Amino acid sequence: MTGIYTRDYWEKKLSTLTLEGRHFIDGEYRASTSGQTFTRVRPMDGKPGAELARGNTADIDAAVAVARAAFESGVWRSQEPLEKKKAMLRWAELIRAHGEELALLETLDVGKPVLASLNVDVRLCADGIQYYAEMIDKMYDEIAPSGPNALALVRKVPLGVVGAITPWNYPMIIDAWKLGPAITAGNSVVLKPAEQSSLSAIRLAALAVEAGLPAGVLNVVCGYGEEAGKPLALHMDVDMIAFTGSTEVGRLIMGYAAQSNVKRVALELGGKSPLVVFADADLDAAASAAAWGCFYNSGETCHASTRLLVQRSVQDELIGKIEAVTKSDIVLAHPFEPSAQIGALIEEAHMQKVLGMIATGEKEGARRAFGAERVLSDTGGYYVSPGVFVDMTNDMSLARQEIFGPVLATIPFDTEEEALRLANDTIYGLAGAVFTKDMDRAHRFSEAIHAGTVWINTYDMSSFATPFGGFKQSGFGRDRSVHAIDKYCDYKTIWQQFG
Ligand code: NAD
Repeated sequence: MTGIYTRDYWEKKLSTLTLEGRHFIDGEYRASTSGQTFTRVRPMDGKPGAELARGNTADIDAAVAVARAAFESGVWRSQEPLEKKKAMLRWAELIRAHGEELALLETLDVGKPVLASLNVDVRLCADGIQYYAEMIDKMYDEIAPSGPNALALVRKVPLGVVGAITPWNYPMIIDAWKLGPAITAGNSVVLKPAEQSSLSAIRLAALAVEAGLPAGVLNVVCGYGEEAGKPLALHMDVDMIAFTGSTEVGRLIMGYAAQSNVKRVALELGGKSPLVVFADADLDAAASAAAWGCFYNSGETCHASTRLLVQRSVQDELIGKIEAVTKSDIVLAHPFEPSAQIGALIEEAHMQKVLGMIATGEKEGARRAFGAERVLSDTGGYYVSPGVFVDMTNDMSLARQEIFGPVLATIPFDTEEEALRLANDTIYGLAGAVFTKDMDRAHRFSEAIHAGTVWINTYDMSSFATPFGGFKQSGFGRDRSVHAIDKYCDYKTIWQQFG
């Protein structure tokens, strides 16, 4: 059901939209201290989009000082929990009320279908803020067992200033995963969104203030990783960096923390998740899960099911079904088209990287079953069709490297032992799935896969109630769920003797 949401509708809405690209610091928009800006190129048509403030160390210093002052003043953390909850709930409502505008901003930046931005990204962002809002007046501290005449309070206290550095693939959702628990815990935040996708972050921060969050509690500094992200991670007055992005940059973030004030770090990094299909599985369900699991968001998903491990006897049948699902259901089109299920890749350089990895994979002997080609080039945008490679081994580059494009690598296996060895033969450990009708095997297998999330006979089910994050080089610390709050808090013990 697309209803009013025609291409024309979004074109008209876009023509009336003002794209705000300045930082948001201390409750107001601010140009960069250097006066410099940079232009975001729209992935859907290659045209120039928003002009964004190009943040540097001076902007980060200003935002951190404001965040620190807001924290020390207690203007947020010391408010009545019920009042804080109301402000956060209003924020979630404002996000919903501005859903179309936020969806449009997200699509301009990321190139994903605007209806996906509206129905998935905006919805999950608002739901995430609401989830944590509802916890604010339900969090208790502890009293530890102690001897007579003594009281040992164990208080959960906020850390202070949290730096959040986020990627471009699901900007609004991942921002909510960080901002929800960090702000609920009482911290102030400086958010550095990816340089490709800053518009929704700026708008979210402005809506937060409109909802009643005190100025200075949530600040956004735009800019490049090296110029704005690095000084944030190196800052001596930032208590924690919550990072989502590549393993390569995650490694740098740990280094910056060590080189500066030993700040805490939480890392949500890359993945190369296996989807394992045994011959006894429901192959229709497996094919649908494999296609959507890998190709949704054009494969720009950290937990995408990019490695298909399939029992050799059903390989051809399964690939045929995946091709049928992909060609009938996963419509690639301009992001304003109501039929679009997937849109453009994030930028030209990334598209060229994906195409280069495909070419290397073919040279190594991977055989293209279908797709994985540049399409819609006449639009000026950066589109690659979903594609599957077969005749592969797990040591080929397409099976080892995170491609972050719509490319599925298929590797056959014969035995359960071999499947498990292949599933775990990766530096990553974000997610995995197993398809079989044998529930003993399903549970044996799901226990043995080294990954933060494992699905049985499905893919990508999730909720705010479940933690999300990685094992191995997919990082550490968890987003979502009540447990996410812990990483934005510290324990403080207060002893009192009496009597
Ligand atoms: P990236 O690592 O290139 O950038 C992420 C963020 O880090 C951006 O804001 C960027 O500006 C910043 N950055 C870059 N260099 C920096 C530096 N030297 N210092 C400080 N900050 C720096 O990642 P990306 O290309 O934006 O996103 C794709 C990656 O994110 C993929 O590897 C994907 O798997 C991962 N990801 C992981 C999850 C998860 O939850 N595990 C979710 C989404 C994306």
